[in-house]
Amino acid sequence: MTNQQVVRIPPAIIVGELAELLGVTAIDIIKELMKNGVMATITQTIDFDTAAIVAADLGFSPEEFEVAVEAEAAMESDAPRTLRIVEEGEGLVPRAPVVTVLGHVDHGKTTLLDRIRETNVAGGEAGGITQHIGAYQAKGPDGRLITFIDTPGHQAFSQMRARGAMVTDVAIIVIAADDGMMPQTREAIAHVKAAQVPMVIAINKIDASNANPDRVLQQLTEVGLVPEAYGGDQIVVPISALQGTGIKELLENVQVIAELQDLRANPDQDAVGVVLEAKTDRHRGVVATILVQTGTLRAGDTILAGLAYGRVKAMTNAAGERLTEAGPSTPVEILGLNDVPSAGERVLVRKNEKEARAESDHRERAIAAGSEQSIGVTLDSLFGEIHKGNVTDFNLIVKTDVQGSIDPLVQSLEELSVDEVKVKVIHASVGTVTESDVQLGVASKAVIVAFNTTTEPGARRLADQEKVEIRDYRIIYEIIEDVEKAVKGLLEPIYKEVQDATVEVRQIFRVSRRNAIAGSYVREGSVTRGTRCRVLRKGAVIHEGIVESLKRLNEDAREVNAGLECGIMISNFDGFEEGDQIVTHHMEQVR
Ligand code: GDP
Repeated sequence: MTNQQVVRIPPAIIVGELAELLGVTAIDIIKELMKNGVMATITQTIDFDTAAIVAADLGFSPEEFEVAVEAEAAMESDAPRTLRIVEEGEGLVPRAPVVTVLGHVDHGKTTLLDRIRETNVAGGEAGGITQHIGAYQAKGPDGRLITFIDTPGHQAFSQMRARGAMVTDVAIIVIAADDGMMPQTREAIAHVKAAQVPMVIAINKIDASNANPDRVLQQLTEVGLVPEAYGGDQIVVPISALQGTGIKELLENVQVIAELQDLRANPDQDAVGVVLEAKTDRHRGVVATILVQTGTLRAGDTILAGLAYGRVKAMTNAAGERLTEAGPSTPVEILGLNDVPSAGERVLVRKNEKEARAESDHRERAIAAGSEQSIGVTLDSLFGEIHKGNVTDFNLIVKTDVQGSIDPLVQSLEELSVDEVKVKVIHASVGTVTESDVQLGVASKAVIVAFNTTTEPGARRLADQEKVEIRDYRIIYEIIEDVEKAVKGLLEPIYKEVQDATVEVRQIFRVSRRNAIAGSYVREGSVTRGTRCRVLRKGAVIHEGIVESLKRLNEDAREVNAGLECGIMISNFDGFEEGDQIVTHHMEQVR
């Protein structure tokens, strides 16, 4: 194509902004992205290469331009749910990938993390790690560092994500070869998929006598992760965390995936990070583990994390070494905050304590005023959210009592997708609605459908707090019907005014000081006692009221039809004039 319009696109751009830049709707962009296999919401950031493909598909000629956006500014943009930091400009250096280990209980997550810690710890000597601070760094086979989040499990993973912190670059899903895919494995996979984080599958316990790795490969295929051995692209590594077999290959693959992401950060600026965990210690005060995501955190910096703030008094790594500075992807334990921040809270550097305190106060007031409440997505609010561009996928989490209901239900639900809205079941499993389901719901803005099952009390509390809707059903058809209505925006009833009669006032009879009867002629329709009406004079409404009394030939009448005369009294009105018009009407629900 010739004469293509040149558009200059920054190295990273939010979907909504790209739409604005190209003068198309966000839906257009999202559709193009989907065609290219990228699932993104309007508030998500995409990189230049992705944006360029979309722009080119839409007939533009994209060009990249450099902007020196400070990481903090990028993060402070009003896109609270896209917290993978995308940086651009000069001074970017490669950073270590951040890895989270997820999987079913007892499948060996802790053993794996321990094994890596023991054999690959930065610094070299075994047992170098003296304390669990929530994360540690280990050397990968190619000599470069890998950061591991030391609290396994998807609860923590989605909890972080729900708070807007996307720290994981690569997820390792551990599946025990002697046990196979279990409910929490499926759940973990759903959480990771929903977060669009690349994953490596580690089939663990291959040393066990009853290990059956082939069955796991088969099960992976069933959830849409086709292993390379079966011609797909899902990386699967057999390991024994206990004996140390395959760990090197596993880490190699983690590094390969990280390499593809070209993870970079600029250490030459104030640190931006995230709280991994925090607690109060009787002797040391508030102890928080922070993952520095970009920039460099220095001992003595004043930081702000949610409402907590303070000067970094002491900074140590997992090996217990005192640090004076910590660069991108480094987890550190720090002392000095005045309060315990929540996990997932963003950490920012402030000029001094005064500034940090002022901002903390401001945030506190904002929270008190309710302006920082999370907005969940409900069936009823969905359409509005879509209109506002806040949602493009209608995400559902489905919980059922029996396995047999899942497939037909998921299929029927996903078939309800229309051009503007894609109905996506991001997770479906058998069992009660758990806190983990709710976390996933928060993180992915999903409505939870509970079919013939119940909700755990803790999950109910969390759902109330985070405003995640859990809908209980006993009949499949009703689920389908409700979701269909929601998708079509039918849950908001729409009312329309319907005119019943037009009446002409011909003569006025005053019955008391405050009451007058309009001797009238019904031109059209029929007048009913008790209906709403308007009195019009020369086309203008002079009163709105109710037909209080209706008489036909001096007898009370319930209804008088067109072509007949009648006497009408209207509530709170006696100022009739000859020639006035009375129009009666009622509201009717049209959908
Ligand atoms: P988590 O709940 O996923 O953290 O699982 P753990 O790491 O606590 O492991 C659960 C059990 O499985 C422990 O008894 C481990 O010793 C055992 N286990 C872990 N990895 C292996 C392995 O590679 N082979 C065998 N045979 N057992 C393992």
